[in-house]
Amino acid sequence: MAEKLGIGIDLGTANLLVYVEKRGIIFNEPSVVAFDYESEQIVAAGLDAHQMVGKSHKKISVIKPLKNGVISDMQAAKALLTYILKKVDNLTSRELANAVTVMCCPSEVTPIEREVMIELGKNMGIKDIFIEEEIKAGALGAGIDIFKSRGNMIVDIGGGTTDVGVLSFGDIVLSRTIRKAGNYIDAEIIKLIKKKYKIEIGELTSEQCKIELSDLRENAPTVAVRYAGRDIVKGIPKYVEISSDDIREIIIPTYEEIVKLIMSVLKDTAPELSADIYQNGILFTGGGSLIRGIEDFIWKRIQVPVRVANNPLTCVAEGAKYLLKNRGDYLVNPLQL
Ligand code: ADP
Ligand code: MG
Repeated sequence: MAEKLGIGIDLGTANLLVYVEKRGIIFNEPSVVAFDYESEQIVAAGLDAHQMVGKSHKKISVIKPLKNGVISDMQAAKALLTYILKKVDNLTSRELANAVTVMCCPSEVTPIEREVMIELGKNMGIKDIFIEEEIKAGALGAGIDIFKSRGNMIVDIGGGTTDVGVLSFGDIVLSRTIRKAGNYIDAEIIKLIKKKYKIEIGELTSEQCKIELSDLRENAPTVAVRYAGRDIVKGIPKYVEISSDDIREIIIPTYEEIVKLIMSVLKDTAPELSADIYQNGILFTGGGSLIRGIEDFIWKRIQVPVRVANNPLTCVAEGAKYLLKNRGDYLVNPLQL
């Protein structure tokens, strides 16, 4: 019997990554789908759909199937994944049905949310599915042999949530989540600019502005960039000059909250594990760890060494790849759907 095809899925609030064995990461784009009500068809997925956010007309709805790390729109999640696997990778329904699939999920999902992920797999026609925590997969994908080592702390700053977890011998000992991550910062930037300059900017502009201007370093130079928005008083298009100091008002308190979360987890970690975490350093993954100056910011506050993964946006998918490659050892009893 031919070996089953392995598929790894990192369905994040912000980005969807799909790994297919022998082909590699075949998709790495925003988790967004655009749906045409009239033809009842997907008109765009990923980046193309993302660029339609805030710009589509009535007949097309642009949907993000995840909120805060969990599936909030099952139909859209299924449509997006099926579209990608079949359209982008030409997988047949039969190949999909026979595949071994690793689906990554946040560490704090409730049993109901987990059921929803299983349901998604079922709806897609997948039979063998493994649900693995993103923190575990992320650590593996960043090169940590989590099954041999004990006392690792992983902090994943994604779109919807920031997850902190302590791993020991391949399992999560302790984990905690807050709903403060990339999307929260984007929304706060929009509020601030509206209040301060009476100009409304869109979601995509806000994210772009965050990526361009964020800097956690104490002595970071002040820079300003002009962005397009809408004057809320006159209702007309208008440029607004946003400075890195404006953005600091939001990112500093948000990353302080992340520090608090890390501290609370450290406080509840057993001393032996704590010592290992100190030795190994804290691993940061997810898009939010790409912010400038994060290592120093964390070190100054908790004096534990910090390492940002080399591949913070892809390490969860890389971890799924690792698990699939060594499936004989790690993926033993699939949930049979
Ligand atoms: P998820 O797994 O939840 O989909 P990701 O790990 O893909 O999230 O991270 C996406 C988030 O990271 C987005 O909110 C994005 O704006 C943010 N991000 C990406 N690059 C940067 C950067 N250089 N600085 C700050 N935030 C960033
Ligand atoms: Mg993620």
